[in-house]
Amino acid sequence: MKNLTIKLTFYLLIFLSFSCQSNKNQSSSENTEMIILHTNDMHAKIDNFPRLAFVVDSIRSTNPNVILVSAGDLFSGNVYVDQYEPKGKPIIDLMNEVGFELNVLGNHEFDYGQNILNDRIAQANFPMVCANLRNINAELKPMKAYEYLTFSNGTKVAFLGLLEAFVDSIPSCHPNKVHGLKFDNPLEVASDYAFLQDSADLYIALSHMGYEYDLKLAENNPEIDAVIGGHSHTKLDTGEWVNSVLVTQTGSYVKDLGVLRIKPGKTGKYEIKSEMISLSNGTEDRQIREKVTSYIENPYFKEKIHELDLALNGDDDLGRLMTDAFRVQGNADFGMQNSGGIRVKSFDAGAVTIGDVFALDPFGNDLLVLEMTNEEIKSLIMNGYKDRGEKVKVSGLEYEIKEGKVNLFDTEGNTMPEKRYKVAMNDYMYNAFEFDHVNSAKASGITTTEALIIYLKSLSEIGVRYN
Ligand SMILES: [Zn+2]
Repeated sequence: MKNLTIKLTFYLLIFLSFSCQSNKNQSSSENTEMIILHTNDMHAKIDNFPRLAFVVDSIRSTNPNVILVSAGDLFSGNVYVDQYEPKGKPIIDLMNEVGFELNVLGNHEFDYGQNILNDRIAQANFPMVCANLRNINAELKPMKAYEYLTFSNGTKVAFLGLLEAFVDSIPSCHPNKVHGLKFDNPLEVASDYAFLQDSADLYIALSHMGYEYDLKLAENNPEIDAVIGGHSHTKLDTGEWVNSVLVTQTGSYVKDLGVLRIKPGKTGKYEIKSEMISLSNGTEDRQIREKVTSYIENPYFKEKIHELDLALNGDDDLGRLMTDAFRVQGNADFGMQNSGGIRVKSFDAGAVTIGDVFALDPFGNDLLVLEMTNEEIKSLIMNGYKDRGEKVKVSGLEYEIKEGKVNLFDTEGNTMPEKRYKVAMNDYMYNAFEFDHVNSAKASGITTTEALIIYLKSLSEIGVRYN
């Protein structure tokens, strides 16, 4: 109760401060405060939208000079959005309702494929921007590098969109999803747009590059007034100043709303302050809550397919489940899975639903089977370890990495005999990992998510519990 009182007082203070400011605005146009509200890495977490809508509306009701933007990664992270038919529709619908005005393309915007992305952009009442993207021969419709948004008081803001593309010159997504697109280094591209400084009253970089690169951008480009960031899920409560450029980011999953409060300064430059409003709890917008509820009432995802005696915790347990399922359903000797594709932290003991499996493995990758030699398997494991900083999850074999070398063992701990083995893996690993292989992979005919569903169902049918 005490907590609640403190929180209510906090919000009251925020609203009072906005309304005081708003009164000042009426008395002097020079003192007009402008507010840019921002989110990033929402990852389809629509459950906090009723709270977001309430806070945004409250701020708008006290000040007409409000702009609301998103710094990328709208999709992938909630089965009710990612597996909705059509994919991603619910979050765009809700963003339209709340009145978003702009989004920079995030790497996960490609997850549903370029055609679906075109549909989602067409559905959105707001544009998407990206300056370091060139369409060579792609399905994705051309996109603007920057966009101007204007506050009610006439102050014009230029927003430049920048997307990370530092590993293999593509964003962190399935390589097959970005066919026909070329990505330039966003840090290099940013300097080509220095003219935006003079074309608007404020110049803001809407970045999906990650915190570390946002700092570099600010260092190299002092003409930018602020960097509103995303991708690294970094929460900067009051922002950071580099080179008189404000760098900010709100964490992720619609847990916080970023607030930039902008006032004309004495020297002709604008004074910008950055703060964060927690969206974790508090009053919700009733209509938006009803809409969210209607999207998550999908009986298909609630179907129970298995019962666990014990919880599966962390990448090791969940990776074991995934690789076991791939090995069995792919009729292979071994199963493999990259840790980055394990998208939940645990499965509780008790019921496992189809929704849980989609949350664990949301990408709809095909399950492939590749014939590999011992050396080829080692090369794949080593690429994960050295270049991607992860220990690939495996089933049907064991391995150790010692003195820069991979040693393979069978499940009894004996050195693995040299021969060709059938290895089942998702097509992301096959395409994105750089490893030696002579053969090409064969499609199993099912996706990895289907493999998991079939595997858990078949265990239930014969009365075996996976633990
Ligand atoms: Zn991202």
